[in-house]
Amino acid sequence: MTMNRKVNTDPARIREILAKSLNLQVLDMSEVSSLLALEDNGLWDEIFQAARKVKEKVYGKRIVLFAPLYLSNECVNDCLYCGFRTGNKDAVRKTLTVDEAVEESKLLSGRGYKRLLLVTSEHAKAAGIDYLEKVIHSIYDKTDIRILHANTAPMSVEDFRRLKGAGIGVYQCFQETYHIPTYRQMHPTGAKADYAWRLGVMDRAIEVGFEDIGMGVLLGLYDWRWEVAVLISHSRRLINKYGFGPHTLSVPRLQPAEGSDVELERYRVSDHDLKKIVAIYRLALPYVGVVISTREQPGIRDELLTIGASQISAGSKTSPSGYLHDGDTEQFEIGDARSLEEVIEKIVSLGLVPSLCTACYREGRSGGRFRELAETEGIKNFCHENALLSLKEYLEDCASGEVKEKLKKMLDKEIAKSSNGFAEKIKFIESGKRDVHI
Ligand code: SAM
Ligand code: SF4
Repeated sequence: MTMNRKVNTDPARIREILAKSLNLQVLDMSEVSSLLALEDNGLWDEIFQAARKVKEKVYGKRIVLFAPLYLSNECVNDCLYCGFRTGNKDAVRKTLTVDEAVEESKLLSGRGYKRLLLVTSEHAKAAGIDYLEKVIHSIYDKTDIRILHANTAPMSVEDFRRLKGAGIGVYQCFQETYHIPTYRQMHPTGAKADYAWRLGVMDRAIEVGFEDIGMGVLLGLYDWRWEVAVLISHSRRLINKYGFGPHTLSVPRLQPAEGSDVELERYRVSDHDLKKIVAIYRLALPYVGVVISTREQPGIRDELLTIGASQISAGSKTSPSGYLHDGDTEQFEIGDARSLEEVIEKIVSLGLVPSLCTACYREGRSGGRFRELAETEGIKNFCHENALLSLKEYLEDCASGEVKEKLKKMLDKEIAKSSNGFAEKIKFIESGKRDVHI
């Protein structure tokens, strides 16, 4: 794909595009190009506001919270940007045993998390489907974690079938870069050197029935405008072929990593660029969940929540055993070390509603059913009430001090204006019932 430098960026054209997004229609590539080509000026504030409105039209004010659970840092690949690469000879390597994965999950559920993202490197020990199945079944059987998503290396159709069968919600994998020369340079050896195998990953996942797929590019490896255009184009191809595109888009931005000397400045994505990227993803694919990780600093994370992001990890560690103790090599440096509780407090202070909800997975409202509700603006009604119910559980089981008071105030206000049995459900939770949702 080449970027056409003569795209129309007149304010009238941009406003027409925003109106289309606000009508919850997927943008075409010429519209995406107009947004990408727009130079910095006052119009960007208007675009950010439109992105926020689109997000609230689809999902309301709720922001979904989760944590990653790193299973391993043993890897056969040599991705030049990653702390787990074979070239990092000083790495302290570790693959969690099934029992250790359960122990970490228990610790996280004790802090209030209900949804975890399993993250693995690529290694026979750590990414083999037999191991993953055991980990997934054991976490579901032995902990209060209610939904597991997974970010793993691309798999064969047979292995994807088993991954789905084990109960993974969203399957996530980032292309890293669509630019073939950069891809080759960044992935010199190992299974990941095969660009085409990675490019076809979502087709294989969809083939076995994964409808909730998470995509992304690693921002900072190549020109971000080009990468964003190709990722949206890839998403549109999936929509045309299967009737749906990504359930989530992530915006991983390149961070310093131990043992990596990748040039960070050449294609650096500034904070302002990152805001544009989040807004463009939101506007181009209005129903997509836009996910922000703890790679980013607190200030920019908070800002992104007000311009279209809908999911955020919190209190994360990027090394195996990281929640139990330090010592193993991390994948990259974390930018936001705030705890889950601190992030919850911040989200409330932004006038948004933190959510630990997993109701859609409990009720089978995933895949096509979820999309249908999102497209008809129906999902936000479920999301709002379920987010509040999940917060009530958090308040009862985990919250402390000032946060407890803030959440209580917020819930009292919601109870005062609620109907349809909401107050009753709150009482159920007070009486000890859990997993209460609509
Ligand atoms: N190992 C599998 C793979 O490469 O697909 C699974 C996920 S990997 C542990 C998670 C993601 O972290 C990668 O896809 C990459 O985009 C991102 N990542 C790696 N190194 C990074 C860095 N230095 N800064 C930011 N993100 C990084
Ligand atoms: Fe291994 Fe993934 Fe890191 Fe590459 S990005 S070195 S495949 S963990």
